[in-house]
Amino acid sequence: MKPTYSIIVPIYNEICCLDALYSRLKEVMDSTGEPWELVLVDDGSTDGSTDKIRQLAEQDDRIRPVIFARNFGHQIAVTAGMDYSRGDAVTIIDADLQDPPEVILDLINKWKEGYEVVFAVRAEREGETWFKMFTASLFYRIIFKITDVDIPMDTGDFRLLDRKVVDVMGTMRERHRFLRGMGAWVGFRQIGVPYRRAARYAGETHYPFRKMFKLALNAITSFSYFPLQLATYVGFISAGISIVTIPIVIIMRLAGDQAFLGQASTLIAVLFLGGVQLISLGILGEYIGRIYDEVKGRPLYIVSEAPSETNH
Ligand code: UDP
Ligand code: MG
Repeated sequence: MKPTYSIIVPIYNEICCLDALYSRLKEVMDSTGEPWELVLVDDGSTDGSTDKIRQLAEQDDRIRPVIFARNFGHQIAVTAGMDYSRGDAVTIIDADLQDPPEVILDLINKWKEGYEVVFAVRAEREGETWFKMFTASLFYRIIFKITDVDIPMDTGDFRLLDRKVVDVMGTMRERHRFLRGMGAWVGFRQIGVPYRRAARYAGETHYPFRKMFKLALNAITSFSYFPLQLATYVGFISAGISIVTIPIVIIMRLAGDQAFLGQASTLIAVLFLGGVQLISLGILGEYIGRIYDEVKGRPLYIVSEAPSETNH
């Protein structure tokens, strides 16, 4: 039987959270009185989470385990969860209970009102360092400014998607995924529900600065050409400056002034432009690398164990 609700949880080394997660989700979902399934995606865990997932799946046949052959990253794990989900409304939630499962009921209410994308907006956050909060807030603001799609501020991947949206997003097989942006890009009726983001139930974040930076780069390069246009802007500005300054220097020299003599001024100009050129090349390289990845057309993820039916 097809469940009404699917819950997708990406899991990477979350052994300490899994029991608590399952019991809280079960309580919340049972209270809806409708059939549901829980898609647990194991993203190459090495701490025994994989066995724990198998064990839970044996106890409760509403659990669909999807076990990756290695770590593919959070966004890919969520994508796999969407591919294996069958429900009419699909909710994505983190394993660490930072997103309280009880909020799912609020998301469901909005879905029943007819909204097709219901995202949970972080009104408050507990137990995060000021550095993470600062970089996250900077990230949302930059993305908002330079991308064409209106990615809602302060939302994570905790959201409910209607089956229609899941099916559309399932056809978007881009490798460098920024699901929040893709969710905004597809359109449909969207609404936010505010909630308090709790502290982690146990363990530590698997999103260190390095991974956050990578996600930010994916977000920018997937949704904006702005970095590519930067070279054009800087080029026009420096050409403009030289057109103005060259005649000034010539006139000063003809007037017998000793202005801009020596190597220092030459070196500064050369190093500055050299730097700008290298940065522009790097930005080009970033986009070319992504084109290369897409062209190879490899599968997004490899599963070592998974239910036989998928949406793909
Ligand atoms: N996660 C994953 N693969 C990874 C990193 C994280 O599936 O490579 C999962 C993790 O188990 C959790 C969710 O993604 O369920 C969010 O990760 P985390 O809580 O570490 O990030 P934060 O909330 O600190 O941004
Ligand atoms: Mg977390």
